[in-house]
Amino acid sequence: THFGFKDVPEEEKEILVGEVFSSVAKSYDIMNDVMSLGIHRLWKDHFVSKLDPGRRPGGEPLSILDVAGGTGDIAFRMLDWASDVHNDHQTKVLVTDINPDMLGEGKKRSLSTKYADGMCTELRLQRIRYDELTYHNIEGSRISFLVQNAEFLDSVPDNSQDLYTVAFGIRNFTNIPAALKSAHRVLKPGGVFACLEFSKVNFSLFDMVYQQYSFNVIPLMGQLIAADRDSYQYLIESIQRFPDQETFAQMIRDAGFETSGPGYENLTMGIAAIHIGVKA
Ligand code: SAM
Repeated sequence: THFGFKDVPEEEKEILVGEVFSSVAKSYDIMNDVMSLGIHRLWKDHFVSKLDPGRRPGGEPLSILDVAGGTGDIAFRMLDWASDVHNDHQTKVLVTDINPDMLGEGKKRSLSTKYADGMCTELRLQRIRYDELTYHNIEGSRISFLVQNAEFLDSVPDNSQDLYTVAFGIRNFTNIPAALKSAHRVLKPGGVFACLEFSKVNFSLFDMVYQQYSFNVIPLMGQLIAADRDSYQYLIESIQRFPDQETFAQMIRDAGFETSGPGYENLTMGIAAIHIGVKA
């Protein structure tokens, strides 16, 4: 397979992205730890603490949509936060992703957490055939999984969500402005769009080291650990192509969101950044 994406027509990109994530689904969680030296966990923890999800005194439980949620890293953290910090055991997360293999891994993980209590006991006991389940909302469970293209979010109603999160997903979308418009559509007025994504390093000496690591070490690790050099090569290239902090903040405003200050926060010298927008 060839993942030199620069010359790939738009319509093929979606298929290629699908292949990448199907091929990395099983090794995805471990590879994240290896490639980022575990730092992605700190970023994700910070992302969730910054958003501080959960029911406020006298308020309603939240409906949270985690887009490109993959294996559920952000979703589980948000439910933990709501439970532990806000004593909120009702807020729900809908995890959507274009790739059923990634969601399948998330679903498997959810069966060993307390959040899947509402799932049918038979399934919990047998721990089987997650792949054959359709990803629909299971009554009583606080986490559910649904295959959706982020550009359309066909099954998510207008003005229905309190919080929209997307972590390390948006750079893979073929049409980012369309995804931002859909985010705006599904959020309630006052709802929050929050994105955690790789970004541009703002310190040139460190950037040189980072570029070397990205281009030389990561594909090699992909080859050695996951026997899949091409997919990890693609991941690096997709980071390179993604717009810088300011440009992306402007795209968020162009989709109708309001931002406060610059609209973003850099993490680890800009290796990653958090962008936040509010639907007026
Ligand atoms: N959010 C998870 C995390 O932080 O661990 C998963 C991130 S993973 C790097 C990127 C995910 O984006 C993959 O699961 C992939 O299937 C998904 N994805 C790519 N294109 C998509 C699209 N157009 N709509 C929805 N999900 C998409």
